[in-house]
Amino acid sequence: MLNDHNKISIVGCGKVGMTAAYAITLSGLANELVLVSRDKDRIDGEELDLEHGSMFLKHLEVIASNDYRDIKNSDVVVVTAGAAQKPGETRLDLTQKNLAIIDDIIPKIVKHSPGSIILIVSNPVDLLSYRAYKIADLPKGRVFGSGTSLDTARFRFHLSEFMGVNPRSIHAYVLGEHGDSSFPVISSAVVGGQLLSTFPGFSKEKVMKAYEKTKDAAYKIIQAKGATYYAIGTVVSHIVRSILRDSKSVSPASIPLHNYHGHSGIALSVPCVIGRNGVEDSLEIKLDWEEKKALEHSVNTLKGYL
Ligand code: NAD
Repeated sequence: MLNDHNKISIVGCGKVGMTAAYAITLSGLANELVLVSRDKDRIDGEELDLEHGSMFLKHLEVIASNDYRDIKNSDVVVVTAGAAQKPGETRLDLTQKNLAIIDDIIPKIVKHSPGSIILIVSNPVDLLSYRAYKIADLPKGRVFGSGTSLDTARFRFHLSEFMGVNPRSIHAYVLGEHGDSSFPVISSAVVGGQLLSTFPGFSKEKVMKAYEKTKDAAYKIIQAKGATYYAIGTVVSHIVRSILRDSKSVSPASIPLHNYHGHSGIALSVPCVIGRNGVEDSLEIKLDWEEKKALEHSVNTLKGYL
């Protein structure tokens, strides 16, 4: 059964957290939105700024707080706290700083809202999701990362540019690490019911060019404007929608692997069914030899940082 009262909390309200908050505000998904930040003055300003659009939107109560007790009974808690990449830095360069933040905030989230689904967005999202999953000790699927859902959205956009087909009609995933060892799954990608590899105008070079643009996107955007936040804000709102509406939609999510193509003991992105219980299932899609090697490389890259 779907709830008629939905409460979302966002922990760490910098650029990504606030863009996600804005996307959620526009979506009309929630009745209550809690913004948790250490800087109460700034977050009070963010609350007011969101509230001033109220007359155009579905009613939403926004609460700015520096007290975790306010997240009580949240349906979803989104974690966007932590250092972000600076120009030239990789996501994995953030590991030590941001693992310490996860160690600090996950016990507080579980203490004050043990029934929530916890969505990790901070980077490196795979390592942080795995740590959060271990610390939280909640039922499987209730703690997961946004993973390569952003990379997949970027990939589908860049494919659409040369294919002349709406990104919604292109079913092609980027899987593995949300980072430099991610990989595109081309062998089973489908466009409007037709294998991508048989689509008129298909060439491996063009597809790999779309993937290279995807992989370099964060570096390019950070170099140009300091941070990326609009697309990830939209992705977070979409994942929250899948949870609250129990949509069972399939999207890549970063989850702990249990013998996935033979891999275990790390979290990274695989296609997942997302619904009211978080990640409700994962799909072991067929990979060709090259894609299996790429998955193994992603697993080994992340394990090197554990
Ligand atoms: P930002 O610096 O604008 O905001 C980070 C916020 O975290 C700040 O407001 C800071 O006060 C807060 N924070 C830090 N430690 C905290 C703690 N212990 N408790 C509560 N809040 C704390 O950075 P940003 O651009 O918003 O990026 C946030 C994170 O999201 C980064 O790790 C970034 O790499 C990541 N990110 C992920 C994706 C993705 O696809 N998963 C995309 C873009 C950015």
